[in-house]
Amino acid sequence: MSHVPTVGTEEPLSSPPSDYDVVVAGGGPAGATVAALVAQLGHRVLLVEKAAQPEFRIGESLMPATFDVLHRLGVLDEMRRSHFPAKHSVQFFSGGGRASAPFYFTETDLGERAQTWQVLRSEFDPMLRRNAERCGATVEVGTQVRQVLFDDQGRATGVRLRRDGAERQVSARVVVDATGQSTLIARKLGLRHEEPGLDRNVSFFTHYRRARRDSGRDEGATIIYQTSSRRAWLWFIPLPEDLASVGVVAPLTHLIDGRTADPQIVFEEELADCPALAERLAEAERVLPVTALRDFSYRSRSLSGDGWVLVGDAFGFLDPIYSTGVFLALTSGEMAADAIDAALRDDDLSAASLGRFEAEFTAGLDALKRLVRAYYDPDFHFGSFLRAYPHRRQDLVDMLVGRVFERSPAGLLADLDAHLADQPAEPVS
Ligand SMILES: Cc1cc2nc3c(=O)[nH]c(=O)nc-3n(C[C@H](O)[C@H](O)[C@H](O)COP(=O)(O)OP(=O)(O)OC[C@H]3O[C@@H](n4cnc5c(N)ncnc54)[C@H](O)[C@@H]3O)c2cc1C
Repeated sequence: MSHVPTVGTEEPLSSPPSDYDVVVAGGGPAGATVAALVAQLGHRVLLVEKAAQPEFRIGESLMPATFDVLHRLGVLDEMRRSHFPAKHSVQFFSGGGRASAPFYFTETDLGERAQTWQVLRSEFDPMLRRNAERCGATVEVGTQVRQVLFDDQGRATGVRLRRDGAERQVSARVVVDATGQSTLIARKLGLRHEEPGLDRNVSFFTHYRRARRDSGRDEGATIIYQTSSRRAWLWFIPLPEDLASVGVVAPLTHLIDGRTADPQIVFEEELADCPALAERLAEAERVLPVTALRDFSYRSRSLSGDGWVLVGDAFGFLDPIYSTGVFLALTSGEMAADAIDAALRDDDLSAASLGRFEAEFTAGLDALKRLVRAYYDPDFHFGSFLRAYPHRRQDLVDMLVGRVFERSPAGLLADLDAHLADQPAEPVS
């Protein structure tokens, strides 16, 4: 029997049913959040993670504003019971060794939300994936998303997967790219571009055991140190089991050009240029090789397309200075989950429908970016800014906590700009 195409009818051509409503590529914080929340809302979700075993990952210091997403995910009790050190503050040391007063998160009215945790990602990420599974998602680890599949109109229709050398295709109504810095879709579609105004930075990092910690509520604090040359900064993040994460960040031109290719030597040279931190590590033992990451500030030109959406680092990465990465991954995961739920219910999987949170999300990202740029301005120091604008202390703490979506930081950012414009063009000797 020949098939006669129907013409002139209002009936849509029915497409074959998809294997899943949503496929999420990448099971880091962003992917595990979308998968859990979309599954919780009753949709069929597949979460695919390429690492077969939990692995070391960078991104260990959380922001307090992760609290609400962790609560909605249902993992707060597990976090409270965990051995992750509680983080109550962040403190900054200038290149001359001057310390800012610690910024305690209790300085803003957050109640229990005024603390967060320093995590081992090899435990935190699997916890979030187990939670996605509990929420009803199918979770497949040890499987790589090789390719996102598109139809002739450019609509994402599914993914090609590879596991143990065998490939298969899975169809889905929505594909979420949560592959982190792999930026699967943004690379494929040529959407990835460097963040203008931020240097091309490099980072070298490792773990130590038995570093000297502060005591009491400062024990879990993140401490940020500038080197004496003021050309690099280092982080100190206390972790469980007497471990501490230590890393250095600087422009490529400082850490790579004209230096030895051995990251360990460069790392140690920068550490030696930071006596306050070197002293903390005097009795400590380095327990991991020094790892390097480069070129890490970028953004995708679009956050969504027909049938696809980007979350977390797969959309963009700002800078590690204020530990915003996991917070932004969780938040964009949550925003994307609500957008996907509404889009599936409306049967409107267009770019506009799936990306309905783009303006809100990028406004928060842009606000954080302005604070990042201030930090890298050679004329900026938290202490002198707060002496000039003492009434902005709480707004600053709000931003360090991550409250950029619920409160507008416009006033603080305007004063930051004014303060930087007032600084002398040449350092005063
Ligand atoms: C030097 C440095 C220091 C940082 N420090 C901090 C910090 O202290 N605090 C903080 O909050 N953030 C920090 N970050 C940022 C943080 O690491 C990231 O922003 C965060 O991990 C983003 O989460 P994500 O889920 O988007 O991506 P990721 O955490 O990168 O997760 C992506 C996942 O996708 C998987 N994947 C990749 N490709 C595929 C594929 N093809 N198929 C299947 N799976 C795939 C990966 O295995 C991974 O599990 C730092 C970043 C840098 C560079």
